[in-house]
Amino acid sequence: MDLIKLVNVSKRYKTENGRSFLALHNVNLTLPSKGFVSILGKSGCGKSTLLNIIGLLDDISSGQYFFASKEVSKLSHLEKEDYLNSKIGIVFQHYHLVEDKDVLFNIALPSLINGMKLEDAKEEAKMLLNGIKFNEDYYEKKVKNLSGGEKQRVAILRALINSPNILLCDEPTGALDSENSKRVMEILKKASKNKLVLMVSHNEELVKEYSDRIITLKDGAIIKDESIHEIKGEGTPIVNDAHRRKKDKWIEQISMQNFKKRIKTNIFSIISLSICLVASILIGGFARYSNEAISLESKKKIDYGALTISKEEKIELEGSIISLVEQSRPSYTELNYLKDSHKEFVYLNNYDVLLPSGSELTFKSAKLDQLFIRPIYSFVSPFVNPSLLIKGSYPSNDNFDEVVINKQAYEYIKKETKKDVMNDEINIKHEYESVYYTFDAESSVIKDIFSLSKNLKIVGVVDELDFLSSPTIYYSYKAFTNYLKGYLLNNLSTYQHKDISWKERIDTSSDNDELSSYSIRAFLKDYHSNNYLKDYVSNVSTDGLVATSLALTIENSLSDLIKASTSGMELFLAISILGIILILGIISYFSYSQDRKKSAVLSALGASRWEIMKLYLYENLLIGLFSYLITIILSFPLTLLANKIVSNITNLNNLIRTPYYLFTSFKYDYLLILLAAIILIISISTFLPIFFSKKISISKELRDE
Ligand code: ADP
Repeated sequence: MDLIKLVNVSKRYKTENGRSFLALHNVNLTLPSKGFVSILGKSGCGKSTLLNIIGLLDDISSGQYFFASKEVSKLSHLEKEDYLNSKIGIVFQHYHLVEDKDVLFNIALPSLINGMKLEDAKEEAKMLLNGIKFNEDYYEKKVKNLSGGEKQRVAILRALINSPNILLCDEPTGALDSENSKRVMEILKKASKNKLVLMVSHNEELVKEYSDRIITLKDGAIIKDESIHEIKGEGTPIVNDAHRRKKDKWIEQISMQNFKKRIKTNIFSIISLSICLVASILIGGFARYSNEAISLESKKKIDYGALTISKEEKIELEGSIISLVEQSRPSYTELNYLKDSHKEFVYLNNYDVLLPSGSELTFKSAKLDQLFIRPIYSFVSPFVNPSLLIKGSYPSNDNFDEVVINKQAYEYIKKETKKDVMNDEINIKHEYESVYYTFDAESSVIKDIFSLSKNLKIVGVVDELDFLSSPTIYYSYKAFTNYLKGYLLNNLSTYQHKDISWKERIDTSSDNDELSSYSIRAFLKDYHSNNYLKDYVSNVSTDGLVATSLALTIENSLSDLIKASTSGMELFLAISILGIILILGIISYFSYSQDRKKSAVLSALGASRWEIMKLYLYENLLIGLFSYLITIILSFPLTLLANKIVSNITNLNNLIRTPYYLFTSFKYDYLLILLAAIILIISISTFLPIFFSKKISISKELRDE
């Protein structure tokens, strides 16, 4: 039975100038299932074209091609791959072996592609090598170290390993000397005992010596077909085996080889990807944790729990779009409501009018214009956080003579006066005139002057959040109110015939009087419960009252600033990820283009397009894996470093955290997200360029130079 039958087969090529060229026309040919058939003819007459068509490496333009009575010109992609792997073996003039792998792997490759285990395939390769008495020392030698003759013998064994029905050889001895040529011919002759060997050659002498039949081509047509020896019997029957099982071992091995070969480019890719990923971890750690850190840092204020609460009433002006806001001290009813509903605070009157934050402060006769003075409720715990203290101590009880300052104030005073203020005294001066209207004709107005001039001893320094914090002295509100209790308004007391203190004067003043400071004070009883402050302020503010905390205002403006910078960083990150996809994509594109010939060889051995894509995917995944490890390892020290730099500039600590070891509920979710991101980046940058690069034409890539 005939193995091959060509009926009126023509092959037309489109040339570069747009015309078409008829390389084969109306070829009718039948070939048996065994024997040695050679094709002779001058260069350019269409020999390789005919061989490529029979080998399914090229399509026909018209006519019919039957392989064992099956019309193969109509085969699907998958079936063609199967034919190429198991029914057709191909030997090229320039061997096309995997140069960096050893002899056994090269011969075994088609079996590996066919799904065989590496050990079994190598065992078969050994058997074939023994059959041609190949030097055993060379079995595990890299192919690149072999001579041309040895390489061609390896290439023939590779073509034979899957026991194909036809062996196609395109000038197999073209690059060999006569002794090696003879060896090769012997192997082919032996193979032709049970399969069809179809060989294209220039070497008429060899052809005549070994062939059973010689076909001569001229200008794309058969002009002579002579039989030298009669071919008797049938070749090995055709096995229509089930679809091969896919195994990726060979892909891994070749990928690894490619990875090593392109090690410099790959290291560059790993470094670029790692930089991008570390940046994303840092930015992620910043976006995720900066608010927490800020909120923690903001609480590093000794007066974090000190609030003022006012009542605000909007007054619409008739016939105008402008409205006024009138501020007053909350009424007793409102105060009682606060006392009942929010017990974490003490609520008291505000005496700021007698001791405003901008009172005149001097040290050793130097005026300290930028120094402020503010109250905290009491120096006795649990009102203050003891961990903030960096020098000295808090006053042991609430007396008005002893105060603490913050670090900013300490440094400010040192800068202004070149002196250390610790345990020394700062002088405070403030005057306030109170006017009392009596409705008496004689003395209708009674004036009293509150005159404060006092030395305050600095007994401690506290470390506070640097951001937007001004140099401040903190005094005890409790001590100050005691002081006011003992300080009488002489003129008013005389007029009313009873002692009236400044404290009483303010307590009994009208709610929308300057003396009331238009507000009350609220102090958190325990600094431990300061987490509660944010909610409290927003809760209270909905009841027509407005609570303000200096510390919270600072915290919020800091958060806003961070939010804005985070979105900026995220934009940069997105751009850099796009950049890295582009870089990896371009590198993949060049690797793929560089390897077109190799890919064509693998296709000719029966590898599918997907398997060839996987070669690049695996190589790039290896890049991804290394980058992943480097990123994880580097992100810890780099987070520390970044935090150190940030805290040197801003005095804010731990703004960035590596997120994965801090998640307690899903401890490693960040690692998984990172891994998924890498796989996505790698997949896009592998498949897009391959998808966009020109489809490989096997025959064109393998047409020997
Ligand atoms: P041979 O093997 O006998 O030297 P080929 O089969 O390689 O000849 O080529 C036959 C003719 O077809 C040549 O003239 C060659 O230039 C032309 N040819 C082969 N491949 C292509 C191609 N891909 N595009 C255009 N012309 C081609």
